[in-house]
Amino acid sequence: MPSVQHTQQSQPAPEQAYREPRTFSRAVVTGGAGFLGSHLCEALLDAGVEVVCLDNFLTGVPDNVAHLVDHPGFRLRRCDITEYVHVSGEVDLVLHFASPASPVDYLKLPLETMKVGATGTWNALGLARAKGARFLLASTSETYGDPQVHPQPETYWGHVNPVGPRGVYDESKRYAEALTTAYRTAHGVDTAIVRIFNTYGPRMRAADGRAIPTFIRQALAGEPVTVAGDGSQTRSICYVDDLVDGILALAASGHPGPVNIGNPEELSVREIAEDVIAGAGSASTIEYVPRPVDDPQVRRPDTTLARTVLGWEPRVGWADGLKRTVEWFREQQAR
Ligand code: NAD
Repeated sequence: MPSVQHTQQSQPAPEQAYREPRTFSRAVVTGGAGFLGSHLCEALLDAGVEVVCLDNFLTGVPDNVAHLVDHPGFRLRRCDITEYVHVSGEVDLVLHFASPASPVDYLKLPLETMKVGATGTWNALGLARAKGARFLLASTSETYGDPQVHPQPETYWGHVNPVGPRGVYDESKRYAEALTTAYRTAHGVDTAIVRIFNTYGPRMRAADGRAIPTFIRQALAGEPVTVAGDGSQTRSICYVDDLVDGILALAASGHPGPVNIGNPEELSVREIAEDVIAGAGSASTIEYVPRPVDDPQVRRPDTTLARTVLGWEPRVGWADGLKRTVEWFREQQAR
């Protein structure tokens, strides 16, 4: 029929459709007092969006958002999102970031990690459904496990050991992805899933066990920098500002995901350690220590989807991001 043909012809290409910007006026950020959550709260406020930050301070600290508490659009509420969650008033965006995220944290908190990925995600989705809000799940490249496809596109199903030590985190996020998809199909909730690759920047905890803050802490203290295995395993590391841009672009699009957000620049862990030592102007040496069980050998996002549907690309290179992060750690030390 001609009218149908006309409609089809005037439809934008799918990748264009997802660039139609949505605007938000009030967002809920679960895990908002954590490393990534605090940067998201800040970026949302800068964009004129009111923010309700929900956090039980399990692995985050109020200090991360202390500079925001006097902002008229910001509310910080202590809340365990695995309990009943209620937020009064209108909400048009729910960003679900609550979860222990570093191996040190989730190995110490295995049940809390599974509970927040399961019950916490039910509650956050329930909130989005009740408010008619867009929902964005912070998933992870760990859903790919120790990948056998490289680089990893979103279509790769992963290689995860459910009963290994990292299974609590990887499977809780895989469950959260499945639950998010079920809410979309069963309840029509407007959902999105972002698979976040290793991200670094200011407000990481020096003792959270992740490679970059550990290396920086050790280099600034002049201690040996401990590299796992022979350091040939690779990571692709994204500066936090780039990650936040990608997440907000995904939220503003109508895309359901999953979408990889990460920097495809791939470095070996040994190179990362050497660059940190040089960047910190340190005389530290490298000490090789045993590799953790199920530590992935390679990790690199295929970012074709983010580039085509969101027009997103990372802009901060490793040298620049490392400089900014070392400066922040130095300032913290001086305090
Ligand atoms: P983080 O530990 O700094 O932040 C997590 C926050 O969630 C903390 O403030 C913690 O107190 C809070 N939290 C945990 N359980 C909670 C609960 N039951 N109720 C309320 N708050 C709770 O970690 P992060 O690096 O900022 O990671 C944030 C999210 O991004 C996580 O979901 C993580 O899985 C995901 N992610 C992060 C990275 C990364 O490189 N940082 C990579 C992939 C995925």
